[in-house]
Amino acid sequence: MEPQQRSPLLEVKGNVELKRPLAKAASRLPLSGRRLKRGPDQMEEALEPEKKRTRGLGTRVTTTHPRAAALSSAPQTQGQTAVPKAPRKPAPRCSTAVAPVLKTQKPGPVVPVQKPGTTAAPPMVGGKKPKRPAWDLKGQLCDLNAELKCYRERKQVLDQENQQLRDQLQEAQQQALALGAERKTLEEELTRVRAQAEQGQRELGNLSARVLELEERLGTQEGLVQELQKEQLRLQEERRGLAARLGEQERRLQTSEASLSDSQEEVASLRQEAAAREAILAEREDRLHGLEMERRRLHNQLQELKGNIRVFCRVRPVLPGESTPSPGFLQFPSGPCGPSDPPTRLSLSRSDERRGTLSGAPAGPTRHEFSFDRVFPPGSGQDEVFEEISMLVQSALDGYPVCIFAYGQTGSGKTFTMEGGPGGDPQMEGLIPRALRHLFSVAQELSGQGWTYSFVASYVEIYNETVRDLLATGTRKGQGGECEIRRAGPGSEELTVTNARYVPVSCEREVEALLHLARQNRAVARTAQNERSSRSHSVFQLQISGEHASRGLQCAAPLSLVDLAGSERLDPGLALGPGERERLRETQAINSSLSTLGLVIMALSNKESHVPYRNSKLTYLLQNSLGGSAKMLMFVNISPLEENVSESLNSLRFASKVNQCVIGTAQANKK
Ligand code: ADP
Ligand code: MG
Repeated sequence: MEPQQRSPLLEVKGNVELKRPLAKAASRLPLSGRRLKRGPDQMEEALEPEKKRTRGLGTRVTTTHPRAAALSSAPQTQGQTAVPKAPRKPAPRCSTAVAPVLKTQKPGPVVPVQKPGTTAAPPMVGGKKPKRPAWDLKGQLCDLNAELKCYRERKQVLDQENQQLRDQLQEAQQQALALGAERKTLEEELTRVRAQAEQGQRELGNLSARVLELEERLGTQEGLVQELQKEQLRLQEERRGLAARLGEQERRLQTSEASLSDSQEEVASLRQEAAAREAILAEREDRLHGLEMERRRLHNQLQELKGNIRVFCRVRPVLPGESTPSPGFLQFPSGPCGPSDPPTRLSLSRSDERRGTLSGAPAGPTRHEFSFDRVFPPGSGQDEVFEEISMLVQSALDGYPVCIFAYGQTGSGKTFTMEGGPGGDPQMEGLIPRALRHLFSVAQELSGQGWTYSFVASYVEIYNETVRDLLATGTRKGQGGECEIRRAGPGSEELTVTNARYVPVSCEREVEALLHLARQNRAVARTAQNERSSRSHSVFQLQISGEHASRGLQCAAPLSLVDLAGSERLDPGLALGPGERERLRETQAINSSLSTLGLVIMALSNKESHVPYRNSKLTYLLQNSLGGSAKMLMFVNISPLEENVSESLNSLRFASKVNQCVIGTAQANKK
């Protein structure tokens, strides 16, 4: 491994290894480690015993050389203690025996040192050196010189040795310094390494924590993996199931496709067949439509042949409590084809008391004969009456304006004819409910041929030349705020009554509800203003609109069913009280409007340029239901009673005049 990649721990180890040779090097030094630690002074001290030993040797030398003592003092006896007066520095003694001692630093055999003052025995060197006689001073001097020389040499050696030791000491000190520096470096290194080790420890701790965390996560992941493996197994199982189902479905699909292609072929042939049938159907529809149009044309022709103005006379039965008229008073002669023919004639006999014979005897009864389009004797039922007019209702659906009046004196059966009898008996239902029921059912039939019809109803009352809404509800109920007849829009031919309700109807129940409401409104008015229903005209109008969307055909026409006010004249013999004067004004208004109706019919019949529609509210309101393109039917209701003969005659005369009128060919309001 490269040194730079080595971890701090390994570096420390390396340094530790490095120390070993250094320690060994120290051991190689001439001084022991203990001595090296001492300073230079200490080194001096360390050397001191050596010196001492050397001095000791000197002393010994001195004591072993009696000649020296002899030199410095008077001759001494042997065994005399030589005490120098001045302490003499022990001279180094050159001895062959000393050098090896110094070199090995081991003390040689020590001769017992004699205390000063005692005579030193002559040195015994191997016992070979002969003792110089005391007189041989020269010899002694010579010996001393030799000894001195020896000491000097010895000193020189010691100096050199000392110098060597000093050098060694210096070197050792330098080494110690170097080692101290190195130690410092190493200590720093150690500190750094320790810091690194601590850092490493911390990191290790963190890493351990991280490892623990990761192990924990690993555990979770392993759990998850196990779950996923389970899920995978389940899904594989499911997939196998689905694959099996898919195979099954594919087989079925193939079967279905096979049958589908068969079916498609069948469908194609059926479509061809259907197209052929559709063509036939369309052709038939065209034919049907053509036939329907033809029917309308023929129907209209028939109606025209019957007359655009038709007058039917209806005689009500004698009611319980009324006096039965004398036989023959009313007669209904049969038609040219005998009794099987529907009656069209009526004769009425009247005995005129005012007319007297020349003899003064009362004149016999006078017969008045009238002929109408149809006469209904007292026994005729409502259904019978309606049958005759249902054709006109059909004309209204075909787009021709139709207007049906009930004319006659009060109590002659006008309301009974138009609305029906009391009690809600279906047999007693009048023209209005029957006509509407018929309209709804025919409209339903025509819807099969592509026609769509809508109906909007209104019901107003004209009393004393004021118009009042009979369908008013809420606060206006019974009060009947004033209504005005206005054109629906500028330039429009259509007339509308302001403040009046126009209610869309689509079934009998709705119509019944409207008739009920009208009766209620009339009843409220009756209690408030005396009996006035007989003194007013009731106008029920139904606006019929039809559309054949696919052929772009439209038709619209009003069907008006009018219950006129009582046509009776005011008895001129009656005294004129305040009530009667009011009654007179009412009667005049009624008579005026009825005579205007007659005049309008006449004018239309005579094709006069001016038709006085505006002379009365009634004719003005019915303007669009009368005239050229309209079909008109007038019921003249008469009482069967003899006492009403005069009014009956008046009514019959008025009706006869109308009956003589022929209004030009009606035109369907086709758009
Ligand atoms: P108008 O409306 O002309 O004044 P109504 O219709 O009120 O006369 O008839 C007067 C009375 O005669 C009513 O009670 C009515 O039920 C009855 N009435 C009228 N016509 C017939 C009829 N054809 N059959 C039975 N009752 C009738
Ligand atoms: Mg009436």
